Amino acid sequence: MADLSLKNINKIYPNGVQAVFDFNLDVSDGEFIVLVGPSGCGKSTTLRMVAGLEEISSGSLTIDGKDVTNMPPKDRDIAMVFQNYALYAHMTVYENMAFSLVLRHEDKNVIHEKVMQAAEILGLHDQLNKKPAQLSGGQRQRVAVGRAIVRNPKVFLFDEPLSNLDAKLRGSMRRELMLLHDRLKSTMIYVTHDQTEALTLADRIVCMSDGYVQQIGTPIELYDNPVNLFVASFIGLPPMNFIDVTVNNGKLTNSYLEVPVPDRYKATISAYEGKTVVLGIRPEDIVVGSTVELTVDINENLGQNTLVHGLCKKKKITCKFKEWAEYKRGDILKVDFKSEKIHLFDKETTKVIATK
Ligand code: ADP
Repeated sequence: MADLSLKNINKIYPNGVQAVFDFNLDVSDGEFIVLVGPSGCGKSTTLRMVAGLEEISSGSLTIDGKDVTNMPPKDRDIAMVFQNYALYAHMTVYENMAFSLVLRHEDKNVIHEKVMQAAEILGLHDQLNKKPAQLSGGQRQRVAVGRAIVRNPKVFLFDEPLSNLDAKLRGSMRRELMLLHDRLKSTMIYVTHDQTEALTLADRIVCMSDGYVQQIGTPIELYDNPVNLFVASFIGLPPMNFIDVTVNNGKLTNSYLEVPVPDRYKATISAYEGKTVVLGIRPEDIVVGSTVELTVDINENLGQNTLVHGLCKKKKITCKFKEWAEYKRGDILKVDFKSEKIHLFDKETTKVIATK
């Protein structure tokens, strides 16, 4: 169990590439933090700096109040689970899980107890004598997690641990990780490019882009109150719709839309009178109604809901209706945007104009 503090951390690789800019985060004991963002945004670099696998160019890292900025990885009491599992092919599952403890010259009985305990948590008792090649992807991933568990580390680090698994297995392993966190109550930092993993696993999400932290908050904070266009478009699937509108005397208008400025923007919108701003609306916040005309392009039934992709004039809009619908291409329907769910962003700075 541990808390961490990352202060003003920068990473410049020897070739001059700056991968992380001024990263600041305080992690509480037992918290599940997910670093999320597109490929190349600096997530793995940040995680590897926490692990001690990459040097911190400037800034500081403390674990339980102790400065570990320049401490070698083996002394940090951290265990990392990698995307490629990194198992030893010639060792059995048991030996793989025991390996770090053998290196530490732990007592044989203690090692046995810890390996059996991890096997119990992960449902691996029947696999202990097998070699990694005889295991499925999900089982290999469990062994990699088991290897981390036996070390009883202060912090668990996960680098895209589920990305080599197929979609169904990813879902079940995700739920296993949630149960594992519940059971171990350890501090965990998890890297993924998958917004679903971030929303489902995290106590708090750190959303990154181009080496910069964009927003830190609970999943619902990022979903309901994204601070800028990047977070608004990255979190949520299907993504939020973005529409240019002009601020016009308490209304937001363009050639196909006229909606009142939502209450929560009334205090800040006057600065934008006559200007173009970006209206964001999530697909599920569009309902069948009477104000906006949409020409149906594609109707996708997903079981308990339907995605309707259509055009408002030439602008593509996606709606997510709760019910089963069977619109045909070319059908014209009228929809409403739920006013309290409208987001407004400054077109130049990309920042939200106001929050709730
Ligand atoms: P992510 O994990 O979000 O995909 P990374 O942290 O791996 O991103 O990479 C962030 C940036 O740093 C990228 O531009 C990447 O090309 C660069 N980078 C990563 N590792 C190195 C390295 N060893 N040397 C130079 N540049 C690197």
